[in-house]
Amino acid sequence: MRKLFKTMMTIAAIVALSGCSIGGKDGGKDRGPGWVDDARMANADSDVDNWMNYGRTWDEMRFSPLEQINAGNIANLKLAWSVDLDTSRGQEATPLVIDGVMYTSTAWSKVMAIDAGTGKILWSFDPENKGGKAVHACCDVVNRGVAVWKGRVYVGTIDGRLIALDAATGKPVWSVVTVDQSQPYTITMAPRVFRDKVIIGNSGAELGVRGFVSAYDTNTGKLVWRFYTVPTDPAKGPDGAISDEPLKKLAAPTWHGKFWELGGGGTVWDSVVYDPKYNQLLIGVGNGSPWNHRIRSEGKGDNLFLSSILAVDPDTGAYKWHYQETPGESWDFTATQQITLATIAIDGMPRDVMVQAPKNGFFYVIDRKTGKLISAEPYANQTWATKVDLATGRPVEVPGARYQDSPFFTLPSGIGAHAWMPMSFSPKTGLVYIPAMNVPLTYAASDPYVVRKGRWNTGVAFGRSGPPPTLPNDPKGQRRAMLSAMKGTLVAWDPVAKKARWTVERDWPWTGGTLATGGNLVFQGTAHGAFEAYTADTGKKIWSFAATRSIMAGPMTYRVKGEQFIAVMAGYGGSMGMATPSPFEKRRLPNGQILVFRLGGTATLPAYTPEPLARANPSAETFSAAQLAEGGMLYGTYCAICHTGPVNPDLRRSGVLTSAESWKAVVIEGILEPNGMASFRDYLSPAQAEAIRVFVNGRAKELQTMEKSK
Ligand code: CA
Repeated sequence: MRKLFKTMMTIAAIVALSGCSIGGKDGGKDRGPGWVDDARMANADSDVDNWMNYGRTWDEMRFSPLEQINAGNIANLKLAWSVDLDTSRGQEATPLVIDGVMYTSTAWSKVMAIDAGTGKILWSFDPENKGGKAVHACCDVVNRGVAVWKGRVYVGTIDGRLIALDAATGKPVWSVVTVDQSQPYTITMAPRVFRDKVIIGNSGAELGVRGFVSAYDTNTGKLVWRFYTVPTDPAKGPDGAISDEPLKKLAAPTWHGKFWELGGGGTVWDSVVYDPKYNQLLIGVGNGSPWNHRIRSEGKGDNLFLSSILAVDPDTGAYKWHYQETPGESWDFTATQQITLATIAIDGMPRDVMVQAPKNGFFYVIDRKTGKLISAEPYANQTWATKVDLATGRPVEVPGARYQDSPFFTLPSGIGAHAWMPMSFSPKTGLVYIPAMNVPLTYAASDPYVVRKGRWNTGVAFGRSGPPPTLPNDPKGQRRAMLSAMKGTLVAWDPVAKKARWTVERDWPWTGGTLATGGNLVFQGTAHGAFEAYTADTGKKIWSFAATRSIMAGPMTYRVKGEQFIAVMAGYGGSMGMATPSPFEKRRLPNGQILVFRLGGTATLPAYTPEPLARANPSAETFSAAQLAEGGMLYGTYCAICHTGPVNPDLRRSGVLTSAESWKAVVIEGILEPNGMASFRDYLSPAQAEAIRVFVNGRAKELQTMEKSK
C-alpha cells in the first residue's frame, strides 16, 4: 500500500511538472503578468531568466547559475538603465523579476513594476503611510522587498498592513492589518509565499512589542495561522493560536518576572524560509524586549523562543522543532538573519542543513531535519563567548558578558556581526559570502531603569564609563577609538572547513548584501558607493562601478530576451544610517536609485552634484546650565537614536534651532509629521522640548567653532 502510494505520488508529481510548462521558455506568461506558483518555484533554480522569491529560490541561496556575465568579460559590464527614486531614506529591497517585469519595493513600503529590459516604469503604488509612523521604525522606514504569486504582488507596510496588488496594474486587491496598530509594530521584511499562503512577521522589539508571525490566504487575505514567539501575561489566558501549546510546554517555564510588560520581543522581522523537502517553515526569531535579560526576566531562564530558529508546519503553523542560538539573550542578538538551505558534505556525507550568520558572530550549520547543531564557529570578531559547546548547543559565555556589575566591551553589539544585508551561497565554490561587520559598543545596565512607552526601552546604557582596557580612558577618545574600530569585512566562509577562505576589508561596516553567480562572480556594493565584483573562488577584485550613492541592498540577476542583467538598489539608511555618525563628511544624502547593468550597456547616470549640509546654526541666546544638563539627558533618550546618522536632519544645523516657537511647533505640535517627524507631545513637555533645544544649541556652537577652525 505504502509503495503504491509512493508510486502514485511520483506520477502525480511528473504530471504536475509536465502540465505547467514550468521553467520552459513560456514560463507562466500564458497566465498573465506575475504568475508564480508552486510548480514554477519547484523549478526556480534552472528557471534562470527569473528571480521569483526574495532569496531567488526557496533555498534562498541568492545564487544564479547565469554565466553570460563572467570573470572573463566583466570589464565590459556597463550601466544598462537606472531609475531615480523619490526619497533619501534607506533602500534595502531585493527586486524580483518575473517574465521580464521587475517588481520592487522602496522606502515607505512603496511598490514599483518596471520593464526589466528597458527601465520603463509600468506602475507604482503608494500605501500612504502616515509620516509620523517613522518614530516607531527602529531602523528607518525601509522595506526589503515584495512577494509575487499568481498574478498578485504582496507588500508589508511600515504601519503593519499586508497588501495584495494586481501584478498587471498595481491596484490593491485586498489589504489586512496584521498587527495591533496601537502598539509600536512596523513591517520591513519581504513577505514569503507558497501553497497559496503569504507569510509576514513584524518588527518593534526595541520599542516594546511581542513577536509573532502570521500566514494569510493569498486569495482572500484571511488569517490562516499565527505563531507567537514568546509567552504573555498568564492572567490573559491562551491566545487561541497554534503557538499556545508549545508556549505553555516549552517557552513559559523559561521566563520569569513580569516579562510581558514590554512585550518580551522575539519579533520575526526578516528571514522566513519554506523548506518543501521537510515540509517545514524555518523562522528566524529576534531579540528580547527589553534587551537586558536581568530586567526582562529577572536574569533567569533561556526565554524561548528568543534568538532561535523555529521550525513549524507550513500549512498549520504547528511547532516542529527549535534551536536557540543565544539563550537568555541580552545584547540584541537576533536570529532573524538570512536562513539558507543547502546540502553540504559533513564528515564526507551529504547532509541537508540550514546555515545562518546571525548577529552574535557565530556561523551556524544546523541539521534541518532534526534541528540539531552541527557546527558553530566565529565568522567575525566577538568578545562575548569563548565557543559554542556542540554537546549542549549552548554558547560558553565570557564572565561579565552580561554587563551586570560593570560595563562590558560588547562585540558584536546590537548592530550585529551581520544584519539584514543578504549573504549568498555558491554551490559551485561551496562558499558563503557574508557582509560581516565589526561594531563594538560598551554596554552597561540602565540605572535607574525607566520605561518610556512607545520609545526605545533596551535596559542598556551604551558607551558609558568603564572603557575597555584597549581604549583610551576618556569618553571622547573612547568614542573616536570605537569609530576607528568600526569596519566591514566581506567574508567568503567555508561551512565545511568552518573557516574563511578569503576576506575583503571595508572601511565602513554598513556595507552591501552579496550575490553569487555561475560566472564565478560575487557582487557587493559599499557604503561609499562602489559596486564591485570579485572572483567567487579567490576573492580577486575584477570590476568596480562608481555609483554616486551608497549601496546596502542585495544585488540580483535575471535575463530578458537572452541577455543577462545585474540589478541593485542604491541608497543609505537603516539602523546605522539613523544612529551612527555619518561616514559622508558634509554632504546630504541623495535620493536612492535602482541601478541595472548589462554587457555593453550604454546608459549614463544622471549628473549628481553633492549637496552640502547647512552650516551649524546656533542661537545667540544664553541658556541656563540646568536646562543644558536636562536637555542633554533628554536628547540622549529621545533624539540621538534617529538624529545621529545622516538619514535624518542634523539638529545642530536645523533652521528652527534659533526659534523657541518654531522648535515647539515641530517637536510638540508635530508640523513636520508628514516628513516623518512625529509630535513628541506624549513623551515630552514643552519645557523639556525647550531644554533639548538648549542642549542642541550648545552642540551647534561647538560645531560652529570646529567648522570655523577648518
Ligand atoms: Ca533588535
